[in-house]
Amino acid sequence: MPALHSRRTAVVAVALTAAALVAIPSAAAAGAGGRSDRTAAVRKAVVGGHARNVIMLLGDGMGDSEITIARNYQVGADGRLALDHLPMTGEYTTYAVQKDHPELPDYVTDSAASGTGWATGHKTYNGAISVLPDGTPVPTVLELAKRAGYRTGDVTTAELQDATPAVLVAHVVDRGCKGPQSMDGCAVNAKENGGAGSIAEQLVQTGPDVMLGGGQQYFDQVVQAGRFQGRTVAQQAQATGYQVVRTADQLSRVTPGQKVLGTFGPNNLDLEWVGPTPTAVGTASSTCSANTARTASQPHLDDMATKAISLLDRESRGSRHGFFLQIEGASIDKQDHAANPCGQIGETVEFDKAVGTAMAYQRSHPDTLVIVTADHGHTSQIVETGTTTTGATATLRTHDGADMTISYATAPIGSSQQHTGTEVRVAAAGPQAANVTGVTNQTDLFFTMARALGLRH
Ligand code: MG
Ligand code: ZN
Repeated sequence: MPALHSRRTAVVAVALTAAALVAIPSAAAAGAGGRSDRTAAVRKAVVGGHARNVIMLLGDGMGDSEITIARNYQVGADGRLALDHLPMTGEYTTYAVQKDHPELPDYVTDSAASGTGWATGHKTYNGAISVLPDGTPVPTVLELAKRAGYRTGDVTTAELQDATPAVLVAHVVDRGCKGPQSMDGCAVNAKENGGAGSIAEQLVQTGPDVMLGGGQQYFDQVVQAGRFQGRTVAQQAQATGYQVVRTADQLSRVTPGQKVLGTFGPNNLDLEWVGPTPTAVGTASSTCSANTARTASQPHLDDMATKAISLLDRESRGSRHGFFLQIEGASIDKQDHAANPCGQIGETVEFDKAVGTAMAYQRSHPDTLVIVTADHGHTSQIVETGTTTTGATATLRTHDGADMTISYATAPIGSSQQHTGTEVRVAAAGPQAANVTGVTNQTDLFFTMARALGLRH
């Protein structure tokens, strides 16, 4: 039994059992591998019209291979993750475009270009944060939703200035421009040159109601020009209405009514799981274990997702408009880059818990559109046990009690493994969910979400 036995297991097991019982009708409708005729259930799940809320969950680098690896390990080959239960599933293309020749595709995207795709409906170059190839800012779904009267939230396990959370709220020509003292690649965007400032400054200026993640170091940088010159970005946030929290305990005590900026670490948040390091000749079969070095003051992704949904739900009650919330499992990608199978699986499993939380909310609030997707494919592949590849492999004993060998071979051993250019899954439930079926383009998701929320763009 490879599933981890942490102190949270009992609570999670109860929660999952309850969710599973409630989920039977929709699971039957979605049910991959179902043997019954699902025609009527699928027909019933096709709902058009308006959504009060949109919850978009994004597994960074969570290609079909990463999903399959996590499923095999955690629930077995014939098991199903929460994200497998969404009633509408399709695939979308993820390519970027070339900066100097935007009429040509760049087949392997990064998180900045792909995020700009669903955040704005526009293709751009790798590294761009919600700007066109010529540097022109384009409005995002979060900005449009906020302007229309929706509550908004942005949650991640990475730095809040990382590409995926940044594309919703900031516009800079290079994803590296995370703080006012880190603007080397973005002279045009710097405050001292009349620009809108770094990603950290723009996060605060755009001002989502809820921002939770890492990246404290950039909020501690000093603003270089304008009204807040000489103060830190965190002080700018407080001066413009944010309560700033820095521990899981402080977050748990936040009540609705005031905007909240939670940063729970200087960089990305700590990993959930640890395990064997792949090598050129493979490893003995082993299992993953909880990362005991993880700081207890950091909330887990599902803790942040639960809090964000609760706050935004409460704050939008009685309003004509609900909320838009993005929740990112960021370190699936980062641990793929690091060729760390238990790292990436642990992050996928935690992300899947957040999906379960969003789906439970969707069942009690069916006017919510829930989307689960990824931004690009990644390196990890399931290969035959007993073989080696040109890269590094490790073997894990799964929930099935069988061995699964995972290979990382998109870069030389020891260097950062690379993204891939494959299409990835996009799944949905609720109003407008049918628009993710078939094969679509990543940029189409912007229009699906904008239509669901009735946004003018
Ligand atoms: Mg990301
Ligand atoms: Zn990456």
